[in-house]
Amino acid sequence: MQFRDLQKQYQTLKPEIDQAISQVLTAGTFISGQQVTELEAQLAAYTGAKHCITCANGTDALTLALMVLQIGPGDAVFVPDFTFFASGETPAYEGAVPIFVDVEEETFNMSPNSLEQAIRKVKKEGKLIPKVIIAVDLFGQPANYPEIRKIADQYGLLILEDGAQGFGGRIGEQKACSFGDISTTSFFPAKPLGCYGDGGAIFTDHEDWASLLRSYRVHGKGTDKYDNVRIGVNSRLDTLQAAVLQVKLKAFQEYELEAVNRVAERYAHKLKDLVRIPRVPQNFYSSWAQYSILLENEEKRNGLQAHLKEQGIPSMIYYPKPMSQQTAFQDMDCVKVDLSVTKNLCRRVLALPLHPYMEEAEQDRVIAEIQRFLKG
Ligand SMILES: *Cc1c(COP(=O)(O)O)cnc(C)c1O
Repeated sequence: MQFRDLQKQYQTLKPEIDQAISQVLTAGTFISGQQVTELEAQLAAYTGAKHCITCANGTDALTLALMVLQIGPGDAVFVPDFTFFASGETPAYEGAVPIFVDVEEETFNMSPNSLEQAIRKVKKEGKLIPKVIIAVDLFGQPANYPEIRKIADQYGLLILEDGAQGFGGRIGEQKACSFGDISTTSFFPAKPLGCYGDGGAIFTDHEDWASLLRSYRVHGKGTDKYDNVRIGVNSRLDTLQAAVLQVKLKAFQEYELEAVNRVAERYAHKLKDLVRIPRVPQNFYSSWAQYSILLENEEKRNGLQAHLKEQGIPSMIYYPKPMSQQTAFQDMDCVKVDLSVTKNLCRRVLALPLHPYMEEAEQDRVIAEIQRFLKG
């Protein structure tokens, strides 16, 4: 059994993907081909953001967004303690201090209460200037933007939505990657919308920021790439990856997102009396980058993972360590508030196999083995 079966997806989409790749090879437009521009328009239309600027990966997308927001030394950037390293790494790389904020146990996403506490503490200390909130759409579910937006407005902060895992999620009719003043995603193969290598994108409604991003990603280009008007980077999405993503975006819209939601609903239905299942608040819709359950304690979690492994069922621990405990952040004075929910989640969380192509028989085996372990 595969944790996320990308081969099965390829077998299903093979004729279209092979054709899309072969078109790029024939045309020879490996960098900045027309597929890149087409994909950007399709992604903007899908998310509802005015502008989409693709780039080399989701980490660069965060870095480019922080460059546009002019984040640097002396700035405080608020980041959930429970996330992938890049959410905290990128503000630190710009010289700012990531201030870690606790999450809510039921949704795994940033706690608005903890966020407000952290902002107040930083303001009171007076050493750093609070600038940006990096809200992460963890495991596919949008963060609590209605509440986070109120706090951002109250304290005069901007929101950077890290939608690396959130593409396809929504609150009401509003789609992920349109909640931030600037938003990002990743097309790493295992993400909800993945390519066949690295890829990423930035979304914004701000015309000026969009032009800045188009310049930054190609060495700070001006009218052309040999006219360099600012210091930038080299971070483009390959035409080959854009061509693959065009095919995958179509499948994602037509049936994959609904299919993965059906699999998640089935897990919820069959596991709800056995373990803590993820809560999707009313009006929220997840794209299910992960299906993460909570066990009673670390011993049970590790025991279940070992049992599943013996049965040939893969599972993953996202994340085994709070960001605030990563060695790389130890000299940075990143901790201002209580982070005990995250600490507790790291001991109890376990992600189960999940993807749009998962068959009921496969899923039943996972469920049966969880039952057997917990009841036996
Ligand atoms: C995957 C991920 C990233 C980074 O994306 P890459 O494309 O791997 O650079 C950033 N933030 C979160 C929350 C992620 O899950």
